[in-house]
Formats: sequence, structure tokens, C-alpha cells
Amino acid sequence: MLLTLTLTRPPATDLGYLLHKHPERVQRFELPFGAAHVFYPEATEERTTAALLLDVDPVGLVRRGVRFARLDQYVNDRPYVASSFLSVALSRVLGTALAGTCNARPELPDALLPLEARLAVVPIAGGEEIARRVFEPLGYRLDLVQHPLDEQFPEWGAGRYFTLRLRGEVRLRDLLTHLYVLVPVLDAQKHYWIGRDEVDKLLARGEGWLGSHPHRELIVNRYLKHQRPLAREALEQLLADEEPAPDEELEERAAEEEAVEEPMRLNEKRHGAVVAALRAAGARSVLDLGCGNGKLLRALLEDPRFERVVGVDVSHAALQTAHDRLRLDRMPPRRRERIELFQTALTYRDRRLEGFDAAALVEVVEHLDAPRLRSFERVVFGHARPKTVVVTTPNREYNAKFEGLPAGELRHRDHRFEWTRAELEAWAGAVAGAHGYGVRFVPVGPEDAELGPPTQMAVFDRA
Ligand code: SAH
Repeated sequence: MLLTLTLTRPPATDLGYLLHKHPERVQRFELPFGAAHVFYPEATEERTTAALLLDVDPVGLVRRGVRFARLDQYVNDRPYVASSFLSVALSRVLGTALAGTCNARPELPDALLPLEARLAVVPIAGGEEIARRVFEPLGYRLDLVQHPLDEQFPEWGAGRYFTLRLRGEVRLRDLLTHLYVLVPVLDAQKHYWIGRDEVDKLLARGEGWLGSHPHRELIVNRYLKHQRPLAREALEQLLADEEPAPDEELEERAAEEEAVEEPMRLNEKRHGAVVAALRAAGARSVLDLGCGNGKLLRALLEDPRFERVVGVDVSHAALQTAHDRLRLDRMPPRRRERIELFQTALTYRDRRLEGFDAAALVEVVEHLDAPRLRSFERVVFGHARPKTVVVTTPNREYNAKFEGLPAGELRHRDHRFEWTRAELEAWAGAVAGAHGYGVRFVPVGPEDAELGPPTQMAVFDRA
């Protein structure tokens, strides 16, 4: 199997520095499964190409007891295709470039360069669409050529083997990292046993890009070969940054907040107000973003005009609680079809959030610190763009009226802020203006003449 990397901006021979491999030498590296050769088919000012040729020794592999998930012994495709062997070779042979180190030209690793990678041959389980899903969100342009199963017998149809070309303006180390993780994702097999340390490897190599990849679940599942406990662990850790607090603590804190607000049954009033706003908007498909234990979802399911109800949360435990309280396992099929739950962080773009009539965020925004609030605005109002967005949040002015809440304290220890009415109006007005929405404000709960209502609600409508 052959990987070529091409740099097309002068002086293109910089590629030699970046890879720590001299353009005029042919080098050979011994690897546990064969040998790798590095050489330069072309090295001019305008265009330099480095080639990494992997020579996998199938007989040696079998002798050394390397096991395949499906062992075809002496007749298998491993020597000829790019697979997880490529990842091993990348880290052994191009480890310095992968780490982004270049002593000779320290500025090069951080430069965005017009780079091209060509891989022949890659097996892609799932074909072209899978390749596009994993590489395109990272900004690559793709060309794929599918090879027939057998050139002599075209009637046998197309095989699962492709020549893959990726082009982009990227840092070399990112390109190598993406290949390291994603080439084995394309392939259905891995040449070694998958264990816990694979989770760590994936998280280390995925740092900075995998968490925000719209198809991170597909990537994690395939990389870990569909071993569910490992995949779940990896996804949790990927999103861990966003996880607000350990889950028992979360429950405890929610209970504190309820204790403050309980006497006026504020939670029910909020859900009632949100459902009313969603009905008035004529929404048929609704997202509950930060659904927590699923109380709003239950209220939405009660009304058949909400044909599709989707709850998401960053906390796996919250989703599990919602799943149990809604009794999803025992729900009649007609009702079950209308609801879906999944884990995501509202601070990362997720295509699954697109195409809905409406989204509700009930007591969620105050859990986001300033930088996360900015990302959330982009994700919800910029990318997901439901027609209607309903946001509820505490009105801080009203806190003075809560007995049992010491002056100046917030209702919940995890709240990053609680807004006054003027502050919500300022935030919502700016967000609406920036993303092409109109916004109006609705009080929720018994209104005090001076302090306003305990909960405030902003209803955004896309212009
Ligand atoms: N909407 C629910 C829960 C509110 S508590 C209700 O009204 O009862 C806030 C919820 O937001 C928690 O479940 C928390 O896990 C979730 N959350 C906090 N930050 C998040 C983020 N960045 N992405 C997704 N969910 C988040």
C-alpha cells in the first residue's frame, strides 16, 4: 500500500524538513509486520511528493501470531491495502512530523499548507459516502476512484477498494493525525486486538477535532470496532469537558433548586408556558435541548400534535434517568416512534439538531459559562436554526422574594449567572439580531409588581 503526500507551494521542498526525511535519500524502516520505505518521486520548488510504501509481510505476520479478526491466513488483502498498519507506520516512521516538531524550520508545523494525500488502496466499508462523512467536515476535498473487484471480469461489479485523494489547506500534522485515526475507521478490520489503551490513543489523537466532528459517534464506534463499552467510554470522555458536574451532585443540586422554587410549582408552570408557546408556533417537531430527566418530553408526548420529540443532554446519566422515567422500553410503539434521546453537547455543531420546527431550552443557558454560551449561540441559532426557539431562565430580581435563599445567592450552585429582565433582553436581542430572528418576552409564574416574574421566557422566531 502506498501513501503519497504532496506539497504544492514553493518552496515545496519544505516537505522534506517537515517530514524529517531528506528528499534525496531512500530510507527503509523495519516494522513489526514488514517494512516501510520512504522516498520522493518528485522534489522540485513547485511540487514535492513524499511516498510511504508499506511492504506488509503476510507470512511473517502469521508466523509471529498476529491475529486478524477474520483470519484469511496466507490469502488476505492486508499487504496491499491501507489499514491500521498505516497508522502504526505513520507513528513509527513519521512520528516527529505527527507530533508537529521541526527543529530546522520551527514555523513550518503551524503553517496552513496546500497539501494533498493520495492513498492506494483503501478498503472502505460503506463506500464513498462513509469517506465523505468522515473527511469532508474536516475541510478536505475528496476524489475517490472505486476499483472493480476484478479488472478481467467487470460484470462482478465494484469492490470495496478505492484510491482516495484528499486535498486541503491544512497543517501537515493535522493531515497525518486525521489519516492515523480515520483510515482504520474506513476499513472494517483492525490487525490487532482492541483494548482499553485504544481508547486512550483515540482520545489523544482526537484532541481538538474529534469532539466537534459531526460524525464522532460513527468514528468512535468504528475505530473501536463496535465494542460498545469502550465506545461509550470514549464518547463520554470526549464530551467530558462539557459535562457540568458529577451526576449525583447534579441531582442533589437540582433538588436544592426545586426546594427553593417548589412552593409555587414553578417547574410545572414553566413547562406549561413552554408547551403553550410551542403550540402557538405550530411546531410539529421539537427539540428539548438539555432535557435533563425528561419532564418536558413527557408533557410534549401527551399532545399528539408534536409528531417528533427529541431530547438531548450532555449528561449520560440524565438521559438514562429520562429513558427510565419515560419508560421508553415499555412504551406502545406508536408513541415510542415519536420520541428519541441522544447525547450531545450544545457547544458543538451536531447535524442531528438540524431540520426541526422548534427547540426548547428550559433552565439550561444559565449553566453555560461565557465562552460556552457563545458556542451554544452559534450551534443553535447559527447551525441548527429551528424556526422557533424558546428559552427559559431565572429572573434574578425575583430572588429577593424566595425565603430560604440567602440574599445575593443564586438558586443553584451550578448556575454561572442569573439574569435580570434587562440582561435577558439585552442578550436575546443581540442573538436575535445576529442570526435573523425576532424575539419577544413572556413572564412565567406569579408576577411581582416591581421584581417581575420568577422565571422569564424568551421566544425567538426566525424571520
Ligand atoms: N431542561 C431540564 C433540565 C435543566 S438542568 C428541566 O427543565 O428540568 C440543565 C441541563 O442542561 C442538565 O441536564 C445538564 O446536563 C444540561 N447541560 C448543561 N450543559 C450542557 C451542554 N453544554 N450541552 C448539553 N446539555 C447541557
